[in-house]
This record gives sequence, structure tokens and C-alpha cells, in this order.
Amino acid sequence: METITLTIDGLTVKGKKDQTILEVARENDIYIPSLCSHPRLKTTGSCRICVVDTGNAEKLETSCTTYIREGMKVQTQNQRVIESRRTVTELLLSQHNSNCMICDKNGSCELQDLAYEMGIDPDAIPYRTDIEKVTMDDSNPAIVFDPNRCIVCSRCVSACSDLMHFNILKLSNNGVETKIITHNDTRLLEAGCVSCGECVQVCPTGALFDRMARFKGRRWELEKVETICPYCGVGCSIELYIKNGKIIKVLGKEDGIENDGSLCVKGRFGYDWVTHRDRIRRPLIKRDGTFYEVTWDEALNYVTSRFKEIKEEHGSDALAGLASGKCTNEENYLFQKFVRVCFGNNNVDHCARLCHSPTTIALLNAFGSGAMTNSSREFVNSDAIFIIGSNTSENHPVIAKFIREAVIVNGAKLIVADPRRINLVDNATIWLRQNGGSDVALLNGLMNLIVKNGLQDQAFIDERCENYNELKKTITKYDLKTVSEITGIPRYKLREAAKILGKAKRAAFIYGMGITQHVTGTHNVYSVANLAMLTGNVGRESTGVNPLRGQNNVQGACDLGALPNVYPGYARVDDPEAKVRFEKTWGVQLNPKRGMTSTRMVDAIEEGRLKAIYVMGENPMMSHPDLNHVREIYSKLEFLVVQDLFMSQTAEMADVILPAVSFAEKDGTYTNTTRRIQRVRAGLKPIGESKPDWKIISELSTRMGYSMDYNHPSEIMEEITGLVPTYKGVSYDRLEGDGLQWPCPDKDHPGTPFLHKDGFTRGKGKFHPVDFIPPNEQTNTEYPFILNTGRILEHFHSGTMTRRTKVLNSLVPECLIEMNSVDANKLGIFEWDEIKVESRRGMIQARVNVSERSPQGSIFVPFHFAEAAANLLTNSALDPESKIPEFKVCAVRVEKIH
Ligand code: SF4
Repeated sequence: METITLTIDGLTVKGKKDQTILEVARENDIYIPSLCSHPRLKTTGSCRICVVDTGNAEKLETSCTTYIREGMKVQTQNQRVIESRRTVTELLLSQHNSNCMICDKNGSCELQDLAYEMGIDPDAIPYRTDIEKVTMDDSNPAIVFDPNRCIVCSRCVSACSDLMHFNILKLSNNGVETKIITHNDTRLLEAGCVSCGECVQVCPTGALFDRMARFKGRRWELEKVETICPYCGVGCSIELYIKNGKIIKVLGKEDGIENDGSLCVKGRFGYDWVTHRDRIRRPLIKRDGTFYEVTWDEALNYVTSRFKEIKEEHGSDALAGLASGKCTNEENYLFQKFVRVCFGNNNVDHCARLCHSPTTIALLNAFGSGAMTNSSREFVNSDAIFIIGSNTSENHPVIAKFIREAVIVNGAKLIVADPRRINLVDNATIWLRQNGGSDVALLNGLMNLIVKNGLQDQAFIDERCENYNELKKTITKYDLKTVSEITGIPRYKLREAAKILGKAKRAAFIYGMGITQHVTGTHNVYSVANLAMLTGNVGRESTGVNPLRGQNNVQGACDLGALPNVYPGYARVDDPEAKVRFEKTWGVQLNPKRGMTSTRMVDAIEEGRLKAIYVMGENPMMSHPDLNHVREIYSKLEFLVVQDLFMSQTAEMADVILPAVSFAEKDGTYTNTTRRIQRVRAGLKPIGESKPDWKIISELSTRMGYSMDYNHPSEIMEEITGLVPTYKGVSYDRLEGDGLQWPCPDKDHPGTPFLHKDGFTRGKGKFHPVDFIPPNEQTNTEYPFILNTGRILEHFHSGTMTRRTKVLNSLVPECLIEMNSVDANKLGIFEWDEIKVESRRGMIQARVNVSERSPQGSIFVPFHFAEAAANLLTNSALDPESKIPEFKVCAVRVEKIH
């Protein structure tokens, strides 16, 4: 790009042709005040605070909208400029309620800064209007809008529409009458605001503010700590603002690589659980059914002796451990090492079993790597996006923002395949509403149409893939009529979708638990991989197969070997070379027998083979299917140790509880869904006597006879880099800033944004043809409805965190069962009625939300609510390959409670 030379206040500077004066000034540390402009927003030049003198006698120019020109001479501080700014500032202050004494923005308010700089006393402005106070909009538990402080800079409107693409806010009226209103002129919550808080983050005054943070601390009183959001796998960079040992508020890190400063309602407002009174503060031992507080020595000695006794009496296989997708990489690494070294087996698993175990298997077999192939930011430049089984805007909200940008700004075609009318359907070119569990038929049908129309990428297939002829034989059986009958999707939609995918230059395939949590979970993922290879959409930017990981560090827990069949780095436990390598580093003999999956552990307890489980941060009493059965089985354990923050449903059953710390009290790293390893930093001291998981594991291991002596998680990472080739180039120093995306094979490697560029990790990509198999459980007259389960935006997993969060619990305080209005009418059920849902395994009661979101004959139950636990109903039938249960389909009946 052409370089341009100009002077600003007499200083010669250079810039690029498409840069504004304001941008070049900022790059050169030349201060120009501004209000409406913001680095992440489109410039409007509406506030006219940033005016500069460019020698134009007619007018001053707004530096945020004026592009630099060769030889330009810019004055930012001459008399003309200062007078103009002063007039504008006085005008703004004349209508602004300057109640700074009680404003949280005091000390960081950009209008206050201007008034201070210019020495303007708002009360002394001669034409100050008598401000007629307008009522604040406090409809939203998270965000308050005080129009009396609003300077109508329109940053909030721009953030809502241009960054998040929601269009909830807009400008109304003209001139001095201009004001910010919602799109339907109602209050925020009634206007459909999803409380992402982007407007709060960009507001230059205290007009839009975080309700929870009100009166708790002004900016100069708060300590800032940069870390990573503890909820979903997007891995948004956040800033914790801390005072007196409490998180006062959270902001998105403006240059966060995965989120560009944006957050969802959980990441921004869901933090008060960290210091909730329910936190377990001291170790607990249960005696005669009651928990008693004990010292760490007593608890750890007791756990050690019981583990040793059980191992001696019943053998090594009588012990198992559950690691956690919520804990850090270092903690998961230590946990699996503890199980392998101290228990002497490979009985270690974690929540990936229940979400993406099919991904790990299928993508490993198809491509040679079981992770997301591309980066979520790349979706912005895809020309087609196919989403199947992922309610992205509720489960991975910040990734949904990139998808909306691709569609709304860049014109990408979006295909959504989902039985529910999820929010992204609003942005979709085509919505394929397939019957639950018919994904393989749908994907085979699309592939058949693509091949029939000659739209496959034959060159890619010939050069880079194998087993194509076998695939062709299978997909040929899936003609339009058959597929339409199985899936319930009209033929014209199938044709249209196949055409879009076949013709796209950069198609990205995105999926979530909607396709993995089936008895055909692995087959479903094979089918997505087949479709991506068939259309040549792997190994390039903005394409790929992109499984969205649910928990903040479920990717890392898999990478670091918290799985029963692989060591860290996916080295197979039955591979003699890998075994020797790990034995050498760890200095012990290892057991080459594959361990038990978490779902198989339940069978092993029932059969009397498994006697003790050590659970770190998981809650199987909420997350496993068929909970009544699982609870009964777990109660047969001789010894259960739970390491957690709260008295979860699983902790209640424990013999010993070891209090761990939250993400905000520890150092370490998480690996997000795009394989990015990022630093987590402690901002708070541990609550009570709780300790980081890595310390507890180390102390327990040392007592068990295997010394673990680490002073800091960075030392554990050093050990990891010696064993895991894809993490080899990682160090804490290198993770400062944006972190690193694995594979990062050496200290100079910049990390890898997308995989399989010059060839698949396994050599050639392999097609795995699979046939449609119906779900394990079918409806009948006794159980006529299909039950679908999943997450909602405001809550997370088993609810231990979000149900203890004021804002999130106010937004959605109870389980609402989603039901189609046609079914509700037939059963005489109205909105908010209490209903009973029963499957062959259990029953729940909750109120009903009648809408068109779920299809007829199907209901949806979110799985966050212990008092109406969806998994009391679900089916424990397993996918034979990955052992994931079929959470997404089971038969139930519904009854109104009178
Ligand atoms: Fe946190 Fe995920 Fe929301 Fe980002 S999108 S703020 S990582 S929950």
C-alpha cells in the first residue's frame, strides 16, 4: 500500500493511504480526543470532538473520518480547534447529567476527561438546559441504561449492529432530539437483548453500565488481571477487575485474538460464583453420612490409605479417575499421570466422552488429527458455512458473531441443519430441519447429489484422498426420495443445499453435540469429514471440519491424555514405543492395557470390578444419562473422592471432598476449540484453605509414593513440551499475548491456524462410507414424543457455576421445557403450565415454553437444572466406537399437571 508523508503539529509522520488522521496520530502517540470513534467500530464523525485543522479555511475536519493525503499539514491543538472542541463539549455537558459522584465510570469517563482537560465546570455552562430526568431502563438484570448520561455518540448502536449484528439499539429523532432507543421502542429485555454487554464495553460515559458492578469500585480502585473465560471452548480473552478479593466486573480484552473484545452474557456477567458463599473452604470427610471439616493432612492421608488398601485388596483395576475439561492443561496432565503411575492403570477419562469422543476417533481416522481443522475467525471469509447439530449462537456465542459477519457483511451462504429452529436460522439461506438422528442419511444424500451433478472436487479427491470408490458405492443408495423420507426434508431444499456446497470456493463445516451425542456419533462425524473432502474443503483457510468444543479446556484435557486409550499427545497406550518413552520420562513401569471409559466405569462398578473413583471437577450425577441408574450404581462404590469447588450432586455422594480453586485463583493454560493454548492467570487468593488442583494432585501423588515436586504450572508445561510433539515449541514466555495454536513443533514455530495444508496428518485423507442407522429408541403410543437435550445461552453444563450467578439466574431462573404449539394445543397445555415428562427411566416436572422452535412430536429440555435434570430421562445406549451415550434422542410422554 502506498506510503503517505504528512505533518501533524509540525512533526513529519508517515501512514498508509487508507488511514485516517486519527489513526496515524494515535500510531505516533499524538493525542486527539474523540468520543464517537472507537478502534473496533466504524467511524461516523458524529461527535465532532476529534476535529483538526488541515488548512481548510471553510471548516475543520473530523480526524476519524478524514483520510491522510500527501503533504497534508495537520494542526490538532490550535485556537480554532480548541474553541470548536470546547463548544461541542459544553453542548454535550449541557444535556448530560453529571452526577459523577455516584457514577461507576468516574475516573474512566471519556466525557469527564474532556471536561477536566478543558477546565469546564458543567454547572457553570451558561446555556445549560434544565435536564428533564428520564427514567432509567433497568429491565435487564445485567445492563442498565441511563439516558440522562447518554451523549448520543452512537457507539452502542454501532457495537450492537456492526460488531454483534443484533440490531437491538437504534438512533431515533434528529438534532438535539436524537436519542438511543431499542428497535421496537420497548425496554432492553423486551426488545430481545441477549445481554452480551458489548454496548456497556464501548460506552464512553456511564450511560450503559454493568448493574452488578454498580457502586462496587471505580476504575482506579480496581486491579486488572488478564485471563481466559472459564466457560465454553471459544476461549475469549477477558480482563478481571478486582477489588478487596472480589471480581467487580469483567471486560472483553479489546485485542483478544479469539474474541476481538466481545463476550457473551456468561463471560461478561457470570463471575460472582467465584466467591459465592457455597464454596467449599476446607477438606471434608464423611462419617456416618455427615461431612466433617478436617485438615489437609488428615484428608490426604485418609485418601492415600484408602486408595492403597483398595489397590492391595482388589488389584489396580479397582481404581479409576475422572479428569476435567474445566481444569488447566497442567492439571489434566498431572491427573492422568497420577492415575497411570499411582493407580497403575489407564482408567482415566473426562467429559469429552460425553461430548466429542466421536470427533477424536473419526477425525483421527479420516485426517490423522482429531481436532478442529481451522480457526473460528476464518469463518468470516468463508463463502459457504454448513452448520449441523450446533446451536452456535447459544453454545458458542462469540463464534456465532463471526458467522453472522460472514453472512450479513460478506454475503456468505449459510446452511443450518437442525431439528430446532435455532436463532441462526434467521440468518440462513437454507434451513434443513432433519428428523432427530437422521444425520447420516442427510449427509449421504447431499454427497450423492453433489456427485450426481459433478460438483465434487475430483482433483482434490484424486490427489489427496483414498477410498473414494467405496464412498461412492454407499452414497449412491441415498437418492432424493429415500433421503427426503428419512430426514423429513423437502427435496428442493436438499438440491439447493447440495448446489451451494458443491459450488462454494471456501466452505466451512461446523458441528457440535447435536451430531456427536448419538449411537451413530462417530458415523456422523465421518460423514461430515467425507462431505468436506468430497468438496475439497480441507487444508485451506476459511474451510475445514470444525467441531466446537463445549468446555473451556476439553481440547486440552484430550491433548494431555486424560483418555483411557492414549497418553499425552495421543500416543496409544498399547504402542510399545510410546510406552517406553513415557516410562523413561516418568521413571515407572506403565500398564499397556487400555483403560475404561467413564461410561464403562458405570458397568464396572455394577459388576463389582471398580471400587473407587477419584473425580476432579466433574459432575457425573448430572452429566451421565439415565441418572437414577447411575446414582444407584455410584452408591455401590467403596470409596469416592471428589475434588471440586461446590457441593455438586456427585460431591454429595463422596467419602472425601478436596476443595479446589476456580480459574480466577490459579495459573496455568487452557487450549481452546481452535487448538490455541492460552495463559490463565490468578487474580484472587484461594478461598478458605482451597488449593489449585495441580497442588492437590502433587501432594496426593507424593503420599502415594510417587514424588511430584512442582513449584509452578510452568514447570509442568516444560515437562509436557518434552513429551507432546505438538506442544514442543510452547513455553509460558511465548504464550504471552495471543498464545499459540498447536501444532507448534519447535521454539521458533509461530503455531498453526489451519491443519492439513500440504497433506493430511495421516498422509491421505480417508473416506469412511457409513450407512444410516436409526436412533436406539423409537416413539410408540406409550412414549409418543422425542426428547432432545442441550444448552441454553444463559447457563452452562450442570449449572454449578451459572446457577450461583445472580445475573444468569435472574435471566433464566428455572428449567423451561420447549414444546411445539401444535402439540401443546392437542394436550391442552398453555405457556407456563407445569408438565410432567416421563421416559422409560425417569420423570421430571417443570414449566413449559410453547413456541415453534421444537418440531412437532419433539420436546427440548435444557440440562442445567438439577431440580428437573434432563438426564433422568435420557438413554444410556452407546455409540459402539466412541462409547458416547445417545443424549439427543429418546422417547418420552408428556402430561399436564393439573
Ligand atoms: Fe466465555 Fe464462550 Fe461466552 Fe466467550 S463465548 S465469553 S468463551 S462463554
